Amino acid sequence: MPADFDTIVNLATKRGFVFQSSEIYGGLRSAYDYGPLGVELLRNVKEQWWRSMVQLREDVVGVDTAVIQSPLVWVASGHVASFSDPLVECKVCHNRFRLDKLEDPNRCPECGSSDSFTEPRAFELMFKTHMGPVASEENIVYLRPETAQGIFINFENVRRTARKKLPFGIAQIGKSFRNEITPGQFVFRTREFEQMEMEYFCRPEDADEWFQYWLEARRDWYLDLGMSEDNLRLRPHATDELSHYSSGTYDVEYLFPWGWDELEGIANRTDFDLKAHAEMSGQDLRYFDAERNERFYPYVIEPAAGATRTTFAFLIDAYHTETVRGETRAVLRLDARLAPIKVAVLPLSKKEELISVSRELADSLRPHWMIEHDITQSIGRRYRRQDEIGTPYCVTVDFDTLDDRQVTVRERDSMAQDRIPIDRLISYLADRLP
Ligand code: ATP
Repeated sequence: MPADFDTIVNLATKRGFVFQSSEIYGGLRSAYDYGPLGVELLRNVKEQWWRSMVQLREDVVGVDTAVIQSPLVWVASGHVASFSDPLVECKVCHNRFRLDKLEDPNRCPECGSSDSFTEPRAFELMFKTHMGPVASEENIVYLRPETAQGIFINFENVRRTARKKLPFGIAQIGKSFRNEITPGQFVFRTREFEQMEMEYFCRPEDADEWFQYWLEARRDWYLDLGMSEDNLRLRPHATDELSHYSSGTYDVEYLFPWGWDELEGIANRTDFDLKAHAEMSGQDLRYFDAERNERFYPYVIEPAAGATRTTFAFLIDAYHTETVRGETRAVLRLDARLAPIKVAVLPLSKKEELISVSRELADSLRPHWMIEHDITQSIGRRYRRQDEIGTPYCVTVDFDTLDDRQVTVRERDSMAQDRIPIDRLISYLADRLP
């Protein structure tokens, strides 16, 4: 059963994963701030993506390009012309909807009225601002709506300096901005969000094979990080869903509490972008294959994932409740690589002699992992808190510790406890944690 949406949103705000942005001013719709636990989870998701896409691969390098680029980038890419979704407004309740997202194009999902929609209109989805102190038509710039274009415009810089031969990829993680018409479902769709994108350049005749390769590799990434197979699927786009640049797209979809929805799009972008930038900039962006003595535009396979959206999905997927000795326990079964806190150190009571040992112990673990030293409340409540935020191990210092220099290590999922000498604790945890 998919986790209940409100439960997850509650957990996220109550425990400090995600806050409504500008909350003290009444909140800014569709903007969110990541709290102490959320920032760790988000960083871990991005770190795992970078590790699998860049660090472990000989054929992929990373970049970090500017959010603001020449406005010509967005003309060349087609975004200025077509980065707009047809929009309809209900004449009864005045809500606006994306036409392509309506279940019934003749019925308002908000107020239920039939045949109440206006004609669909194009709607500018890019954020516009001005570069420099004077706001005029000439200095309009856009906040990027995808990270991909920063990669395409640096194709030649990267190829030359990283000395890469086809096939090779360029990866980037960063913020993107879209003036979404219907933001919502918490951090699922926001106007400012983070993406994890990789452009994989290859010979045109190899593109289909690489497309298949990346479909599988990307699906495996989610599964390897513990996402349940039942909640994950690959869905091919119908021809009328394809973006202006794509000759084929699959979505990696997750079974959210409201149904299947996109986590990542994997597209064959063909040579659309490089060609468009070559034309607009007048630069030759073709690849030269010295062995075959040929110059051509590579094709591009793009796995484009959302960092913030994927983080939300991992949170939902990890959430479980179970009955333990007649009580309900909520536990986030996050993979240890994603868990915000890896080890909690808990003195059994607030007695000074216990706290001084537990503090010293926590300090000795800090260089290795994210640690929480928690001395508040009863031990039962502290275990419950750590379960609920997904901490894989709790280390408890009790009165026996003062004599035998041993601590109790409790594992989150099985709740099994081990008694371990303090001087063996780091190696014990190192065998079990990333
Ligand atoms: P959707 O159909 O959900 O609007 P999209 O197909 O427009 O998404 P892409 O352009 O393929 O999205 O972007 C790649 C990924 O970036 C998406 O799979 C998603 O994870 C993420 N993403 C896109 N728009 C948003 C958004 N407004 N908020 C959060 N994440 C987003």
